[in-house]
Amino acid sequence: MIPFLDLKQINLRQRDELMAALARVLDSGWLILGQESAKFEQEFARYCGVEHAIGVANGLDAMQLVLKAWGIGPGDEVIVPSNTYIATWLAVTYAGATPVPVEPVEATYNLDPTLVDAAITPRTKAIIPVHLYGQTAQIDELRAAIGGRDIKILEDAAQAHGAAQNGRRAGALGDAAAFSFYPGKNLGALGDGGGITTNDATLADKLRVLRNYGSRVKYHNEVAGFNSRLDELHSAFMLAKLPLLDTDNARRAEIAAAYNDAFASIESLKLPTVAPGCSPVWHLYVVRHPKRDELARALGEHGIGSLIHYPIPPHLQPAYAHLGLGEGKFPIAERIHREVLSLPIGPTMSQSDVEAVIDGVRAAVAQIG
Ligand SMILES: *Cc1c(COP(=O)(O)O)cnc(C)c1O
Repeated sequence: MIPFLDLKQINLRQRDELMAALARVLDSGWLILGQESAKFEQEFARYCGVEHAIGVANGLDAMQLVLKAWGIGPGDEVIVPSNTYIATWLAVTYAGATPVPVEPVEATYNLDPTLVDAAITPRTKAIIPVHLYGQTAQIDELRAAIGGRDIKILEDAAQAHGAAQNGRRAGALGDAAAFSFYPGKNLGALGDGGGITTNDATLADKLRVLRNYGSRVKYHNEVAGFNSRLDELHSAFMLAKLPLLDTDNARRAEIAAAYNDAFASIESLKLPTVAPGCSPVWHLYVVRHPKRDELARALGEHGIGSLIHYPIPPHLQPAYAHLGLGEGKFPIAERIHREVLSLPIGPTMSQSDVEAVIDGVRAAVAQIG
């Protein structure tokens, strides 16, 4: 049985380092906003190639806080992908603004820059391109589409720790970027966590205040802030895990290359496309098949785990029924959601695991015809 992702194994590789991190925090007696979080923020900023990183409670908060810090709220519009995890939309909703969906490029699954101009109105304040499945969105083309207008770019980099575009890493491409350290991400905590990166010192300062009850000095509240911090304990875990990110991403890329080779001859299977200039980190290896559900079932019978990212697009979720965006409104996203399937990919997979997935996929595809 090849599980979709062996999280337990991923973390157990570092049992000693993680236990040492726990002991360090326990012995220090300092649990919130201390040396561990300051150090992790420094290291993560350096890793992404930016001036500032700010630890927060999760990826959704990371996006919401940036939008709030930019003063985006009721009456404002924010362009989001029609094809994303719902968190991207929810961040806009929580800020009080309206998500305006734009369709993806079908080959890369990422926001189509050529459709952005038509979606911009005088109320548009920001665009949130998502680096879906670990491949960066086309930031230069998005900037060109924005032109001289005062519209910010917030990267949703929750799936793209370490991904690069023309030599710059995710987190350094937009005006700010939001990361999630949810356990299953390429860089995951042992629970929830998130981070923001930016080169904008004023924004970074606002965010540090906003995540901590709007307070710079204890019990003095400048603004109505949030409680959204990355704990000392999680920061210490993240400090232990960050040094493994590049080798883990390299292993993911090896597995993706092996899948690409092995599946190239399977006509019914649409494989991932890498856009020019992009170095994806393969958070997910996503294929498309017209009989997706049958494929998933057949894979299960052959002992291969798989998941769907995602089965229902945000505009068809009951949570967004009030926007009145029904079936047929975003046909590309809808088609993608009907056909995609994510195969096992993870840094601890052995060669024989990879071969088992390849054999399983070949058998499953033959079986469903
Ligand atoms: C995981 C994820 C998020 C949300 O991150 P959380 O830490 O779970 O809040 C946002 N956007 C995308 C694309 C994600 O994959």
